[in-house]
Amino acid sequence: MSEEEVKSPNYWKSLGELARNDEYQKFVEREFPENATELTDKVSRRSFLRVMGASIALAGFAACRRPVQKILPYTKMPEDLVPGQPLYYASAMPFQDALVGIVVENHEGRPGKIEGNEMHPASKGNTSIFGQGAMLNMYDPDRSRYVRKDGNRSSMNAFASFAKDYFSDTDKNIAFVSEANSSPTYNNLKKKAMDKFSNARWITYEAFGEDNALEGTNIAFGKRLRAYNLYDKAKTIVAFDDDFLNPAGHKNSVENTKRFTDGRHVTSTDDEMNRFYAVESTFTLTGSNADNRLRIKSGEVELFLYALAAELSKSVNGLSAFNGYTNKFSDHEWIPVVAKELLENRGESILTVGRDHKPALHATAAVMNAALGNDGETVKYLDVPHIDDQNNNEAFAQLVDDLNNGDVDAVVMVGNNPAFTAPADLKFGDALSNADQVIHLAQYYNETSKLANWHINRAHFLEAWGDGYSYSGTRSVIQPQIEPLFSGVSEVEFLYTVLNGEQAKGYDLVQDTWKKYYPTNFKNQWEQTLNDGLAGGNQFSTASVNISRSFNSSASKFLKDAKPVPEGLELVIRADSTIFDGRYGNNGWLQELPKPMTKITWDNVALMSKKTADKLGVKQAGLGQAKVELVKITVDGTEITLPAWVQPGHADDSITITVGYGREGVGRVANKTGEDTYPVRTTSHMHFAEDISFEKTDEDYVVACTQDHNTMEGRSLLRYATMDKYREDPHFATYEGAYGSELPGMEFAKEHGKDRPQSIFNPIDEEEYPDYQPQWGMAIDLNACIGCGTCTIACQAENNIPVVGKREVSRGREMHWVRTDRYFDGDVNDPKALHQPVPCMQCELAPCEQVCPVAATTHSDDGMNQMTYNRCIGTRYCMNNCPYKVRRFNFFNFSQEFLTSGSDPEIVQMAMNPEVTIRFRGVMEKCTYCVQRVNRAKIYTDINTNGKTQKPADGTVKTACQQACPADAIFFGDLTDPESKVVQVKKDNRSYILLEELDTRPRTSYLAQLRNPNPQLA
Ligand code: SF4
Repeated sequence: MSEEEVKSPNYWKSLGELARNDEYQKFVEREFPENATELTDKVSRRSFLRVMGASIALAGFAACRRPVQKILPYTKMPEDLVPGQPLYYASAMPFQDALVGIVVENHEGRPGKIEGNEMHPASKGNTSIFGQGAMLNMYDPDRSRYVRKDGNRSSMNAFASFAKDYFSDTDKNIAFVSEANSSPTYNNLKKKAMDKFSNARWITYEAFGEDNALEGTNIAFGKRLRAYNLYDKAKTIVAFDDDFLNPAGHKNSVENTKRFTDGRHVTSTDDEMNRFYAVESTFTLTGSNADNRLRIKSGEVELFLYALAAELSKSVNGLSAFNGYTNKFSDHEWIPVVAKELLENRGESILTVGRDHKPALHATAAVMNAALGNDGETVKYLDVPHIDDQNNNEAFAQLVDDLNNGDVDAVVMVGNNPAFTAPADLKFGDALSNADQVIHLAQYYNETSKLANWHINRAHFLEAWGDGYSYSGTRSVIQPQIEPLFSGVSEVEFLYTVLNGEQAKGYDLVQDTWKKYYPTNFKNQWEQTLNDGLAGGNQFSTASVNISRSFNSSASKFLKDAKPVPEGLELVIRADSTIFDGRYGNNGWLQELPKPMTKITWDNVALMSKKTADKLGVKQAGLGQAKVELVKITVDGTEITLPAWVQPGHADDSITITVGYGREGVGRVANKTGEDTYPVRTTSHMHFAEDISFEKTDEDYVVACTQDHNTMEGRSLLRYATMDKYREDPHFATYEGAYGSELPGMEFAKEHGKDRPQSIFNPIDEEEYPDYQPQWGMAIDLNACIGCGTCTIACQAENNIPVVGKREVSRGREMHWVRTDRYFDGDVNDPKALHQPVPCMQCELAPCEQVCPVAATTHSDDGMNQMTYNRCIGTRYCMNNCPYKVRRFNFFNFSQEFLTSGSDPEIVQMAMNPEVTIRFRGVMEKCTYCVQRVNRAKIYTDINTNGKTQKPADGTVKTACQQACPADAIFFGDLTDPESKVVQVKKDNRSYILLEELDTRPRTSYLAQLRNPNPQLA
């Protein structure tokens, strides 16, 4: 590779950085964004408490010296409990109808941290942002605390007597509207309900459910089957508007990520890597990991798919319906190139369509997969027993009609919130008023609960017994970690009461189900299942599929209906990357997590390309406190107002919005945050709308976006190359010329035959190791990292990191110890995007330590750059001198604010990680390599070896970010152990360190990223 190719990466994080105008220069020359350094104005308690929820609560309590609390010894010590030592219990986390195996760390009866279950196939030890955020939802003081009858406090006993009486008439016309739920216990009760009530119907309603995909396989194969993609087995992947790596885009995202990145592990130039093509409108997290990405309007994705099917039909059987079909994409340069590659990789490719596209696209992709021989190889079609036979979207619309006609006596809703999330034109909330009784189980007293005669407060999944299946069919028991904090009931307990008019314990109900699975030796097998967190084997059978005889006539209809997309703007409506359909809206961690592609927090916006913005006269976002224009979008006469945001890489003439915001009276974090966009999501515009109108307003709006915060601008930070270039020059990432001059220490290194300056992980000879061992280090593989941000939330959960709220974020005061930088490379309209997590580099020659006047930041024996909080006097010299911008300063005393609020201190206290100190106003903090985990492992090793060593075996210590990362992108271990995984990774020829020219000798290094674009399209 030429020096020039390495020396001149044109990476940029924002339009401001790309322009490098005066405003940008002024911005980066400031140590902090404007107003970030001043402590002149106090955060009002009211505004502080608004963002508080459980999140700030988590940040605060342990820092405070009040109130005095009594510590009493156990009079009867629970079995296995050693005070101070956490216990770990396996369980599973439901997300829609897919469980992910988890292990919960428990401190003296208080669940504290969620990790993935290594034995569980959908988790393999990792989690997603939703998995990490789930703990905060349980400790949320805004959760519903009691049963309500017509809005007034009531009780479960009263509800049971009501149910006994009301549901004794089994001829009543009852509609059950449930969230998707894979629990066999729940589905047994569902069956009992349908058997008991002669006029009952059951509708599974999810705003972002699986119905389109299931209808697709129904059309293709004559049965509603679930597509299960084995991304690790595919050489070529083509995704059509499918955000399958994003937890908000696919319910099996953790497993998808693991499989996808497994297909991209490269350790030598002989290795192969999968090739991923993305065709999409919005620049999604998944699309940002594509080797080739094509941005087109969402409405055109269907046409592109059919054009590709037509091209393939020339060479494979089964696609005759598309033979001879042409449209505007038939001559597109991608079509012959992608088709050729798919044909070369028959049986080793995957075509996948986004959840929200209509069934026709899913059917076509399924038939293309079958025609290419992928079925049974890279794609399995699972027969999932709990999936309904009906199209639930249609059944839901029918229910509303029947409600309006007065044909429904009672509506029983379990877990979902359709008054907020249902298609707006159905006016579900109004229709409910026609039912005699509306009953709703929910964790919050939300939009639907407020319309219900009976609201039943729901237990969190960490508080109740349950069970269910993973996406691919692994059966697990959900094991409670704590008694329900607010006496809520689980969905199985609720349904049981509806059916029987009396209460039952979830434990008994779940056990009754599992006794059928374990007819003999139940006790042992049950306990083994609880221990492992799963029952062995995959319980969903793989269907052997044949293309349906009626497919050709269906396809002819699709092609006839697929009209050219009209000129003008389209509106794309998506689930939000951090709060999904709104269910995580009251979760401060998730609200404050920068969205993966925009880095926006606390808001939803209208995303558009630069070209579209220019055409519409929309001004670009500013820097720091980004003041942007508010715009009005009207669909079928309904208007919403949102901040406009220019998203490089977005399709032209297309605007993307996300839902779940703009709520009222649900919780302090969610209330009045963002704009409610559900009003424009209607039955005819569930995913995208054409013929929208757009209008600018005269108003500005401040968006809290972190993309320009902590910038290390103008330096060669992120390195990547194509596979071809990597094969030409495997050492491209460490190319000396990348730094513009020879590195410090190179002369000495060369004298000793080394091509890199010496450091602890590149010693000139073994003598260079410090006497004290272990010595800790980290490596991050950018080729695996997908940019999901799970590491950020995992770190926040582990280390009691506060949420600071929108205003403080907009001032650059966010407290995340691991930020995930997102860079663009290339043309502003069609750039590549690259992700880079940046924690503290734990420099051996740390610039922060050299300037601290009170030695509050110093080195530990095992090589970590540590903070002594009670020495810190808050000069922030260290923050100023850190070239990596990874230090965070507590501008306010969140803990004191919280303590004097008088709100639920006990709950707050329970939520803390007792192994991590809390920081208070005026104190600097940063990543510690999870020193509490390191020290625990050292102490145990010391004990277990009778004091011979404190060097834990490799893999014993995992940092929180490493453990959570679904891509296995983070490696941590002892640098003095030549066999340790981290040392092996650091030996990779793609290994490099940030700002090596400064000779700070970071202990954290990176593996440069690789992309595998098709040279014919690059
Ligand atoms: S390193 Fe962080 S951002 Fe990257 S994939 Fe892992 S968890 Fe996601």
